[in-house]
Amino acid sequence: MAKILNFGSLNVDFVYQVPHFVQPGETLSSFGRSIFAGGKGLNQSLAAARAGAQVFHAGAVGTDGQLLLDMLQGDGVDCSFIQHSEGPSGHTIIQVDPSGQNCIILFQGSNFEQQREWIDAVLQNFSAGDFLLLQNEINLVGYLINKGAERGLKVCINASPINENLAGCNLEKCSLIAVNELEAAALTEQNPEEEQPADRQLKLLRERFPESSIVLTLGTQGSYLQKPDGEVIFTPAFKVKAVDTTAAGDTFLGFLTAALAEGVEDEQALRRAAAAAAIAVTRPGAGPSIPKLAEVLDFLKTEA
Ligand code: ADP
Repeated sequence: MAKILNFGSLNVDFVYQVPHFVQPGETLSSFGRSIFAGGKGLNQSLAAARAGAQVFHAGAVGTDGQLLLDMLQGDGVDCSFIQHSEGPSGHTIIQVDPSGQNCIILFQGSNFEQQREWIDAVLQNFSAGDFLLLQNEINLVGYLINKGAERGLKVCINASPINENLAGCNLEKCSLIAVNELEAAALTEQNPEEEQPADRQLKLLRERFPESSIVLTLGTQGSYLQKPDGEVIFTPAFKVKAVDTTAAGDTFLGFLTAALAEGVEDEQALRRAAAAAAIAVTRPGAGPSIPKLAEVLDFLKTEA
């Protein structure tokens, strides 16, 4: 089975329950605080590991990062390529008001301390046919894409968040680019306010990235895989009662990559990914909501 290397973000999420969002000049007492392991990278690694893949997470944590390592190791993710830096880990401070709305301050911390020499050294441990899973929450994503592709790794990226760091990357070197509707609009320079039909978005994405497989996820509207030869596979979303859609995309891509690394054929791999994401949205939180493969396969049997 091919190995998966996820070079990705690791965040400590500090979630504060507040009566309202803090106002300029105000000091506000919170009702309570919870601490969670998060970050797109961490969620993707958890999903791929729970899907049964051999996952190696690379990146960096700060002095407060034990929680992140414990979470990953608890699911069998190999953490030997995670560096330890002197400062704080990437973290967020999240206010949640009584209506469930949130606002977030992000501190990049050790997520932005990746170095070229370390990337080169880690990539030595992987070879052609292995998968390099990425998102845009660390520095040097462009360097990772170039070096990973050069080594023959299948580079799979969730092009999120969209920002100027991503604009400088050779995304066309990725084997697979996963985007939602808004990210697709940004990558093809469309106005995100103007809703585009999926087939038009896929056409524009194909023109822009002719050598890459494109995964376009559309929430409850399902997903499309468009391959470089033009074949398009649509996978409907499963009908479930969603309570929290955090990490739906990360669960989807983690499960999809794991299934592809296992050699599962595309249609089946996409169904697994959609089922895993559907289960995840029925539960609160990110990491804890991601199911294991056995549960996903049971779910698929009941839906067959
Ligand atoms: P992102 O979180 O990156 O914006 P999406 O919202 O498009 O990604 O979700 C990714 C996939 O997760 C969808 O294609 C779908 O299969 C599944 N999914 C997301 N939301 C739901 C939902 N409410 N019900 C069932 N499946 C969902």
